[in-house]
Amino acid sequence: MVDISRGSALGTSGASELFQLLRDGAPRTRASLAQSTGLARSTIAARVDELMRLGLVSPVADAASTGGRPPSQFALNPAARIVLAADLGASHATLAVTDLAGTVLAEHSQPMDIAQGPEPVLGWMVEQGLALIEGLGRDRHELVAIGIGVPGPVEHSTGRPVNPPIMPGWDRFDVPGWVQQHLEVPVLVDNDVNIMALGEQAIAWPQTEHLMFVKVATGIGSGIISGGLLQRGAQGIAGDIGHIRVARGSEVPCHCGNRGCLEALASGPAIARALREQGLDAASGSDVVELVKRGDIDAIQAVRQAGRDIGEVLTACVSFVNPSVIAIGGSMARAGEHLIAGVREVVYTRSMPLATEHLAIVQSAAAENAAVLGAAMLAIHHALSPEGIDALAAR
Ligand SMILES: [Zn+2]
Repeated sequence: MVDISRGSALGTSGASELFQLLRDGAPRTRASLAQSTGLARSTIAARVDELMRLGLVSPVADAASTGGRPPSQFALNPAARIVLAADLGASHATLAVTDLAGTVLAEHSQPMDIAQGPEPVLGWMVEQGLALIEGLGRDRHELVAIGIGVPGPVEHSTGRPVNPPIMPGWDRFDVPGWVQQHLEVPVLVDNDVNIMALGEQAIAWPQTEHLMFVKVATGIGSGIISGGLLQRGAQGIAGDIGHIRVARGSEVPCHCGNRGCLEALASGPAIARALREQGLDAASGSDVVELVKRGDIDAIQAVRQAGRDIGEVLTACVSFVNPSVIAIGGSMARAGEHLIAGVREVVYTRSMPLATEHLAIVQSAAAENAAVLGAAMLAIHHALSPEGIDALAAR
């Protein structure tokens, strides 16, 4: 008998690797699994039994079945376990409990000041998360992972925020360690833009392996999915495009200490400031969006120029990572086509034809749900990985 399994905690070792083929939810037979893995039928049968015992895989009604025969097809059972997802924003937090396919089973949203510091905010998350699980009539032991998004840079390998400008008290705080004192499951932490990229992909572009999500709000940042994987870089900063210098930047000072940064020209507050200098009444990015919606010509032109500035930076990104989709989200995307038109104008003019031939530059489809759903995807990706399944089997 051929057995290519790597050492695993499972009696029928290798079930977690076999599971990777079944993660997509498509029904398969034991014979088709034997064919695609080259493993013996008896090995496949033992591994499938193990996954069924864990509840991760369940039989699928066989249309051609004529009574009496055991079902021959089976697939991922998304209801088997649950994850907790948290989108912790600067002033607002959203929690969701989802199944293993990312379907939201329960959700809660409320104002929350991240500047209270990690212990009050995470304590609330744990308490409210358990209440959601209880409300569903599920057991806390069905929870397999927690995904958390925060509005600042995160060292993903340790789950610690690093010098987050708007999160006092969170610098290098051990988020997973603290949460695990209350809920003993893997805790994954990432910055808000990365989880928004995951959420956008899950909602609107499940088949797309090369996607950039650009958030334009109080700040500007991006999340890059390349080859189907979120790219964080060495320290988790990959995609942080807000402080790249743009040609129009000249001597405009940025809060980072440099001059001419993209964020200092094209973020919501930056556009509002430029409009105030023209004598318009715009205190914030939301005021700019309102002016655009009312058809104010100066505001429309300012937003379109911000789009061009963003496009200038994205042209370089297109050359580096060759995405097939750039989705623009964040509060300034509510200004509609004007921002995106500016981005398109520059990217399509300045990029190589092959890079833009099949490149879609679109408004985010996931809108405000993107972040919490992305946090759920972060947790699910981990829980369903070979390591995640092995850990689950060992529990
Ligand atoms: Zn800057």
